[in-house]
Amino acid sequence: MKLGFNEATCMKRSNVETDLRECEKHGYDFIELRLDMLQDYLTRHTLDDLKEFFQTRHLKPYALNAIDYLNFQTISGWNEVKRLFLFACEVARAINNPYIIVCPTRSDEMLFKTEEDTFIDTIHNMRELADIAMEYGVKLALEPVGEKNRCCRSLRQAYEIVQELDMDHVGLTLDCFNFYLHDKCSDIEYIRKIPKEKLFVFHINDAEDHPLGILEHCHRVMPGDGCIPVKEICNILKEIGYDGIASIELFRKEYWNMEPGDVIRIAAHAVKPFL
Ligand code: ZN
Repeated sequence: MKLGFNEATCMKRSNVETDLRECEKHGYDFIELRLDMLQDYLTRHTLDDLKEFFQTRHLKPYALNAIDYLNFQTISGWNEVKRLFLFACEVARAINNPYIIVCPTRSDEMLFKTEEDTFIDTIHNMRELADIAMEYGVKLALEPVGEKNRCCRSLRQAYEIVQELDMDHVGLTLDCFNFYLHDKCSDIEYIRKIPKEKLFVFHINDAEDHPLGILEHCHRVMPGDGCIPVKEICNILKEIGYDGIASIELFRKEYWNMEPGDVIRIAAHAVKPFL
């Protein structure tokens, strides 16, 4: 697998310029840029600057993060999602960034949605985004998010949606933490069911050992420092032939308070044994 960095990891003290410089310096193959950080970057630079950076460096763009609130939208909410999505498509095409990550809606209303409700709604909305993405030559990577008030929580549920859509440019993101947050990886073997051509993005991380219900994204830690069977997950990924990005994605205050360059260096060291 290839070494990747997701900008969430340092987002509170860093910016796109710093992440690009430090990732290149510490030998990363890919970066996942965040749309909010990109919008900030574009107040100081142009898309051509970004394109030129990637043309002249080893580091390459991989997946843009993220289109959130995919499901059960109001008309104005959906228009807002599509506006951001079009921005992401424009950037992706300009800098040769292959993937955009799409995440299910988070709200307490989601607690009352049945799996069938979610299936129908997600298919409908993903299809609309996928048609736009096709025009831009971009691929969509649906990421199931494990917490209770998200409507698409498990890898199985997301894969069933991707299978139903049956489009070459629509696949999945597997995130160790989200996979664990759903049911503590009770069916780790399910990963084997995902054909490698449908697994677009892999987020690598670990978790402090807390009960479900207490565990939150702020408890993400470096791979190897927690209780997720990261090694087993990576071994299964290698067995199915996945050789894409393994991207460190953390939302941890402790790392947000550190120098971005230090976190990026430490993360490279933590992820490399799993590649
Ligand atoms: Zn993730």
